[in-house]
Amino acid sequence: MINELSNEIDLGKTTPSRLTARYLRQIKKIDFKLKSFLRTREKEALAEAQEADKRVKLGKRMSKIDGLPISIKDIICLMGEETTAASNILKGFIPSYDATVVKKLKDAGAIIIGKNNLDAFAHGSSTENSDFFATKNPWDLSKVPGGSSGGSAAAVSAELSVFSIGTDTGGSIRQPASFCGVVGFKPSYGRVSRYGVIAMASSLDVVGPITKNVADAKEVFNIIKGVDKLDATTIEKKNRGNKKSSAKAKVGIIRGIEDRIKDKSTRVAYLGSIEVLKRLGYQIQDYDFGFLDLGLPVYYILQTAEVSSNLSRYDGMKYGYSLLREEQDLTLNDVYFNSRTIGFGEEAKRRIMLGNFVLSSGYYDAYYKKAMQIRTQIIDGYDQIFNECEFILTPVSPSIAFTQGEKTSDPVEMYLEDLFTVVVNLAGLPAISMPYNVSESGLPTAVQFIAPYSMDEELLDFSREFEKKVNFKEKPQI
Ligand code: GLN
Repeated sequence: MINELSNEIDLGKTTPSRLTARYLRQIKKIDFKLKSFLRTREKEALAEAQEADKRVKLGKRMSKIDGLPISIKDIICLMGEETTAASNILKGFIPSYDATVVKKLKDAGAIIIGKNNLDAFAHGSSTENSDFFATKNPWDLSKVPGGSSGGSAAAVSAELSVFSIGTDTGGSIRQPASFCGVVGFKPSYGRVSRYGVIAMASSLDVVGPITKNVADAKEVFNIIKGVDKLDATTIEKKNRGNKKSSAKAKVGIIRGIEDRIKDKSTRVAYLGSIEVLKRLGYQIQDYDFGFLDLGLPVYYILQTAEVSSNLSRYDGMKYGYSLLREEQDLTLNDVYFNSRTIGFGEEAKRRIMLGNFVLSSGYYDAYYKKAMQIRTQIIDGYDQIFNECEFILTPVSPSIAFTQGEKTSDPVEMYLEDLFTVVVNLAGLPAISMPYNVSESGLPTAVQFIAPYSMDEELLDFSREFEKKVNFKEKPQI
C-alpha cells in the first residue's frame, strides 16, 4: 500500500492533496457507520498536504510515507490537539508537545488526518469501553472490531487511513488487527519510544503499526523505531550472539494450545498455517510451555498494579476534566474524589481497585511479588523454546470477532480474549498478527507469530514469506 501510493505520487498520478482529500471524503462517507475516528483534522491535514505537494514538485520527498494520509490512536499525544485516550476525564486535554512517534512520522512527512477511537485508557478488547462510543467491525457491523486499538484497525481495514499507529499492552494491536483482517505488529519492548503516549502499564506498553501488509509494517517500524533520550527504556537492536540459523528454520508450536481455541474458523487458521509453513520448508516442532494459563492471572495482577499507579495523576487538577470548573466551594479532597468518580469509566475504576488491592500491604507478597516471579519464569520458558527454534506460531485470540454486547457484562469473559497475547507482553517479545482467510461467516481469521527478543526485523521478513504464500486479498464490503 505505502509502496504503491508512494510510486503514484512519484509518477505524478496523484498528489498528497488529492490523496488526503480522497481519504477525508471516504471518512465522511462511511465512518458514521464504523465510528473509527474520534476526531479528524480536515483543514490542518489539507494544509499539510499542500506542503507535501510542494516537496513533490521540488523532488524533495522526505520518505515513502511523505504525503500519505495516516491516523493515530487517541492515546498518543499530538501537539495542540485534544488527546483523550477515549476517556471523559481527559476531555479537553491539549498536549503541548508531540509524542516521539508523532514527531518521527511528521518528520517523515506523514499527514495525520485524525485520531482513532479506543477502549478508554486502552483497557479492553472490543473498543466498547470507549467513554464516547463503540467502533464497529467493517466486515460485519454487528461485530466488534477488537480492542483496544479497534478504531485504528477498523480505519485501516476500511481504507480510511493508509496505516494507523496503535499501542499494545496485552494484545491491543494484534487482536483488533486479527478481527479486522489487517496486519498488527507489536515490536519488542523498548524498540519504539513511549514518550508522549498516555501510559497504561509502563512495563508492558509498546507502540506499533497497524497496516494493510507486512511491507508497510516494516516501512513504518523503520521510521518510528530507535533509541530516544526521552524514554530511558528504549534500546537499539540487540544481537542474538552467534546463534546461526540453519538454512530453513524451525517454527515452534505449543502443546495443548489447540484445546483453548473456541471456534472452528480459528482452528482452521491455526492448523492451516502449520501446513503453509511446512510447504515453505519449515520444520514444525511442538514444545511444552506451562505458562499459557498463568499468563492471564499474572498479567491482570501486574497490569492493574501499574494502571492504578499511572492513573493516579488524573486527579481533576492537572489534566482534562475537573469538577472545580463546575463547582467552586470544594475542598481539595472533594475535587480529587468527585472528579475521579465522574471522570473515570467502569473499567478504569475496576482496574484501579484491583491494582490497589494487589499492591496493598499484606497482599503485596501474595500477589504482586509472586506474579513478578512467574514473569521471570515466563521469560525463561520462552528462552528455552527459542534455544531450538526461530519463531513460535499461536492463534491470536480464542475466537474470531464476536458480537457487540456479547461480553460487556462479564469482565472475565472479556479478559479471556487475551489468553494468547498477554503472555507475549510479559516477556517483552516482538509478535505479529497475520491475516489468514475469511471464515464461512464472512469474518477474517488470523494467526500470531512470536520471535525472540529484539528479532523484530527477522520476524517481519519471516511474516512476509507467510503472507506471500497465504495471499490474503479480501476486503470488507462497506
Ligand atoms: N485487552 C487487554 C486489556 O484489556 C489488552 C489491552 C492493551 O493491550 N492495551 O488489558
